[in-house]
Amino acid sequence: MDLLSDKYARSILRALYAGGAQTRKQVMVRLKMRLNALVEVFNQLEAEGHIVHLSEHLQRNNPLQLNQRRFASVGIEHGVDRLHCVLLGIDGRRLASTTYSLEATAGGRLRLKSILEHIRHFLNDQPGWGISALGFADIGIVNTESGEGVCSVLIPGWNHVPLEQLLHQEFGLFTKVVDRSGAGALDMLRTFPDDEDVKTSLQVFVGNGIGASILQNGRYWGANTPSSCQLGHIVVKPGGRPCTCGGRGCLEAEAAIPALQARAQELGVKGLHSREDFLHLTARGNGKCLQSLEEGATTLGIAVANIVTFTAVTSVILRSDLCQITPRYFESFQAAVKSHVLLPFASSLRFKVSQQGQDCSALGAAYYAQREFFLEDD
Ligand SMILES: [Zn+2]
Repeated sequence: MDLLSDKYARSILRALYAGGAQTRKQVMVRLKMRLNALVEVFNQLEAEGHIVHLSEHLQRNNPLQLNQRRFASVGIEHGVDRLHCVLLGIDGRRLASTTYSLEATAGGRLRLKSILEHIRHFLNDQPGWGISALGFADIGIVNTESGEGVCSVLIPGWNHVPLEQLLHQEFGLFTKVVDRSGAGALDMLRTFPDDEDVKTSLQVFVGNGIGASILQNGRYWGANTPSSCQLGHIVVKPGGRPCTCGGRGCLEAEAAIPALQARAQELGVKGLHSREDFLHLTARGNGKCLQSLEEGATTLGIAVANIVTFTAVTSVILRSDLCQITPRYFESFQAAVKSHVLLPFASSLRFKVSQQGQDCSALGAAYYAQREFFLEDD
């Protein structure tokens, strides 16, 4: 039997992952398993190099730790026109990051084939690292229970793709699939593992779409569920702007960046040909662009206030390029949440702007897979 699937080995690895470097004695006291078997498995894990001593010099009571070189994890983010791949160390550090472009129009099998090729290429580019887990942050709705990419309205033919099964077959690694927004939230936990305002938080992303995820006491609320949360498609204006999902007046159709750009055009702003034009003019203080931005922030804030009132989360984290171009976006958002949330929550609710980078969902997916690899049986 593979040593790493042995019950005793899994328990030792889990103890070292969760508790950091420890002596054999410390691990054994905690595990309450048969001592002879534990000693034998400890010897095997050491002999095969899965665990190593913390210090080269100490003779007695030398703590053991996981061998960093053996347990890296890989994270992938599947976006509309690109694939981010990262390598994550067991200590949560980013070891490598590469972005591959994907043809925006290619869907279905063709897309899957090129995704697998890019991942293979990335894995081959990491000599010297043993990889134990692979996390895949998929575009669109994800079934985190079966590991299936359920559907994406942005990619033709991307329906019911059995990603976890396909990736496991292809690369032989422990694999977990998550949605991009959930992966982004998990990346905050990777960066701030002990911050209570991250451990229980509603995290909202505003870009070309709107996504949100909840962490509850450090656990991802969307784990093992048939569909990821879809904040972007709650209706905020019946009969409003058409949405990519086929509906009208969804939050993302009213308040994501393309909607703000369209609203600024309606208000009479000329020369708005792209999202970049809108961001640029807003950053320069164009009054009508700022009006559109503030309307969008208010619509988002009211929706978020309703979610906070229902879930009673104690912290809200906002991630968007809009927060980076002007403080007015976050200020208007925060004011709208505070004035629409149930009154007793308004004074204690905490807010944060995320400073995460472009590859945060890939990092979060790698972190999620790593945690599940070690802690899944808990
Ligand atoms: Zn929609």
